[in-house]
Amino acid sequence: MDLANKVRLIKDFPKPGINFRDITTLLQEGEAFQQAVNDILELCRDLEVDLIACPESRGFVLGAPLAYAMGKGLVLLRKPGKLPGKIVRHEYNLEYGTDALEMHEGAILPGQRVLLVDDVLATGGTVSAAVELIKKSGGQVTGLVFLIELVGLDARQKLSEYPIVTLMQLE
Ligand code: IMP
Repeated sequence: MDLANKVRLIKDFPKPGINFRDITTLLQEGEAFQQAVNDILELCRDLEVDLIACPESRGFVLGAPLAYAMGKGLVLLRKPGKLPGKIVRHEYNLEYGTDALEMHEGAILPGQRVLLVDDVLATGGTVSAAVELIKKSGGQVTGLVFLIELVGLDARQKLSEYPIVTLMQLE
């Protein structure tokens, strides 16, 4: 099955000029979702992993089945103010303003090998922030995994020190 056909392109979302890749159409088809998770698992076979980490919110959708299938723990990297316990935080710059990712203190222990999972790699800003957060806890990022890579934005260059696994490369 060609999974790229299951991803819907929505023009001018969330603002004019942006071509948004909508993965909800893939997720709502059981066989497509299953194949996506299985294909990613296969591509990650050689990576050494202790934990899966994923940024809110679409990262959770892929991170959870991967963690379950690999028998590894899942660490949620959340938007500010969502986690109830003591947190570690990393702030990062957006085009306008700043944002932050948070995770529970002690969720990742020094030396643990972490596979970082998200739905889309665009500019690489989100995943770079997630990498910094994991590094703050002493974790070691062993790979970056995405369902979709938007090519032409040069994110790979920024992240060249990590193995990157992407299931689909789209313009
Ligand atoms: P980046 O930080 O520019 O790499 O953007 C990646 C983040 O924004 C991911 O967490 C995605 O969920 C979201 N994102 C960016 N572009 C798209 C898209 O076209 N479809 C779905 N999510 C996107």
